[in-house]
Amino acid sequence: MQPTLASCPNFIGGEWQTPKSAGSPVYNPSTGDVIAECPIGGAADANAAVEAAQAAFPAWRETPAVERARVFFKYRQLVEQNFDALCRTVTREHGKTHAEAKGSVYRGLENIEYACGVPSLLFGDTLENLARGVDCETLLQPLGVTVGITPFNFPAMVPLWMFPLALACGNTFVLKPSEKVPLTAVLLGQLLEQAGCPKGVFNIVHGGRECVDTLLAHPKVRAVSFVGSTPIAKYIYETGTRHGKRVQANGGAKNYIVIMPDADVPKTVEALATAAFGCAGERCMAGSTAVTVGKAAERLLPSLVNAAKAIKVGRTDQPAPAAQPDMGPVITAQHRDRVMSLVASGEKEGAKVLADGRTAKVSDAPRGFYLGATIVDGVEANMTLAREEVFGPVLNVMRMDDLDAAIATANASAFGNGTAIFTNSGAAAREFKHRVKAGMVGINVGVPATMAMFPFTGWDDSFYGDLHIQGREAVQFYTQQKVITSRWFGGDVGDVWKK
Ligand code: NAD
Repeated sequence: MQPTLASCPNFIGGEWQTPKSAGSPVYNPSTGDVIAECPIGGAADANAAVEAAQAAFPAWRETPAVERARVFFKYRQLVEQNFDALCRTVTREHGKTHAEAKGSVYRGLENIEYACGVPSLLFGDTLENLARGVDCETLLQPLGVTVGITPFNFPAMVPLWMFPLALACGNTFVLKPSEKVPLTAVLLGQLLEQAGCPKGVFNIVHGGRECVDTLLAHPKVRAVSFVGSTPIAKYIYETGTRHGKRVQANGGAKNYIVIMPDADVPKTVEALATAAFGCAGERCMAGSTAVTVGKAAERLLPSLVNAAKAIKVGRTDQPAPAAQPDMGPVITAQHRDRVMSLVASGEKEGAKVLADGRTAKVSDAPRGFYLGATIVDGVEANMTLAREEVFGPVLNVMRMDDLDAAIATANASAFGNGTAIFTNSGAAAREFKHRVKAGMVGINVGVPATMAMFPFTGWDDSFYGDLHIQGREAVQFYTQQKVITSRWFGGDVGDVWKK
């Protein structure tokens, strides 16, 4: 029996509205059940959301930054009070384990905390006596209507990367969440409404291509933040900038983890298993390729393969934490099949599967979208498996003779999101961090994803734009600078004092 469908309304101008448009199924990936229908709105919904955001902008812009920050202090409190409900929603529509959902919502919460500091973040610069009697100052002012388009893999964290700071800076916002995980976005919107965010300042519109295209072309939209796959990131950047928008577009990734022969084996195995298989490999910072140097493969692989085989896969939608598996399902049956076919392509091209998750079965949820942890050894740079983002619990192993070859392999990638090295040698680590081509680098840290106060600095095909998400770069992205040059004529001051 299918469960009752959860409601998935738009939020436009402070009103929750359920559109009549046909919807796209939202699954509980643990069971394969349809739990909601996400409306796929088109141009009319997108236009209405932008108009509402534009109407709310003048009053929100005039609201002092300390008062805007207060909304986010309250929001922070509400997100904390509803932390379990948020994590359960993430788990139910995405399939992450409870622990993974908690970690991701916590990262989102830190972005709200960062936004609470907005009065200090909006400080400008001043220089007195630029010339005799002339002073100069900069002001950071909001842009107007801003838009966020988000992916399925972090239903709470990625929207929270965007709207708290955009709003705290004085902009209004339209969120277009992933149609695969729209329920968490609705809950985030309900909590923001409870926090006292005025009507129209924050809006949610569910939709597909037509909705996104309308947002990208709308003359009142000033800036677009996007996170998703590389082909769509490129499309969003090209289309948005062609329409004169400021755009930051995070794309996909292929992250290389270099393991030197002197690396600490137990600690590296633990970090590598988490980096490769955490969140079922569905993260842009997943360590999806281990590049072993010299004898590192022989030292590491036996325990790594044992660790992969010990990972328990199962349903994550059970309330009891004791029943939680180590790894949950992937997002859809179609995605699971794609990952399996990529592993098969690697095998066909000569790679060897050392741990095979394709046979994973979960007896109490036979229709769930499961894959076990998979390790493929002997992957070569020209294989499809090496070039394409897999986005599943699959770790490629590429063997190299020395650090130069390992760095060259990582640097040949079209992507440039994250990378890491495991070593006890300061010299090797120093050489690696200096030469490697990626925006986020870990040294004995498998997932060097940055926290709210640092920018999320993808390079190359992992990012299109100039100013990244998070940190001071995001403040710059969501504001425009005004430079004021002023002088006052001294005689007038004298007159004032005489009166
Ligand atoms: P996706 O690109 O399929 O979808 C992202 C968003 O774009 C969704 O809201 C979707 O509805 C919309 N969209 C999809 N196709 C569209 C089209 N043709 N025109 C307009 N809009 C469209 O991505 P996904 O599968 O939801 O997410 C996984 C991807 O996101 C992976 O590639 C992952 O690496 C990437 N990701 C990157 C980062 C990062 O910071 N670099 C973070 C998280 C996820």
